[in-house]
Amino acid sequence: MLRKSVTSVLAGAVLTGAIALGGCAQPGTQANTQSGAQPAESASEAQNHEVLYQVSLLQSLTEGDFEGSVAVGELKKHGDTGIGTFDGLDGELVMLDGKVWQAAGDGSVNLMEDTATIPFGNVTFLDSDETLDVSGAASFEALLKQLDGRVAELGVNNFYAVRIDGTFDKMNVRSEHKQKKPYPTIVDALAADQTFFNLEKVEGSMVGVYCPPYASSMNSVGWHFHFVTADRKQGGHVLDCAVGKATATIDKTKEFDLALPGSQKFESTDFTVDRTADVKKAETNE
Ligand SMILES: [Zn+2]
Repeated sequence: MLRKSVTSVLAGAVLTGAIALGGCAQPGTQANTQSGAQPAESASEAQNHEVLYQVSLLQSLTEGDFEGSVAVGELKKHGDTGIGTFDGLDGELVMLDGKVWQAAGDGSVNLMEDTATIPFGNVTFLDSDETLDVSGAASFEALLKQLDGRVAELGVNNFYAVRIDGTFDKMNVRSEHKQKKPYPTIVDALAADQTFFNLEKVEGSMVGVYCPPYASSMNSVGWHFHFVTADRKQGGHVLDCAVGKATATIDKTKEFDLALPGSQKFESTDFTVDRTADVKKAETNE
């Protein structure tokens, strides 16, 4: 069940590899009212399932800030389900059941070590607030429209994580090859090194994140999905799909934890610039 509590937006600037824990506010129904940054909080507090954890800003990624700042091992303390990319924009990250997979630019899917780092991503511990039958959604657009319908009822101003398991008649995904320094912008990197994989009749899992409109300066508004096949051999960032028989597990997360990279590149980036067009191009390839 969803707990009624005040959304807590947390900004925890951390150094590379450091534990990104600000004063994690607990949901209102719990007794813990600890406040203020505590450097040595317990692992159990790190497993507050109502938090969507984010590494850096998508807008920083568009500027070519591809340097990994948080390790996969650290990511696992903040969730078991999520999406992102790896150091150097080295493929698409899909986290499922606590395992972190890389859908690489060469089409391979690799289980990543805890020492691998990521420059951007979102993870949470997936709790099923409700399920939705999305069977037969004829396109990605149709699927998102169905999910939007539920979000309109559950609250458009929250963050959501969604996992969709099932069969897919069509799954068009993309990935990209690792970039070399000095890093290009994301639009230039994708123009040069993007690879497309058009899968048919596959079984697997989509993992998606929904960000509300006010998150427009730090992520993409709306949905962002990655996919990996059930045999964990193919996957990537979803551009289009046709759903066969599948169920969506929807998790409404009421808290947000942002781990900033603290790098010189990040600090020197002018975030007053509107990067909406670059974000859209990177997400949709349009
Ligand atoms: Zn993606």
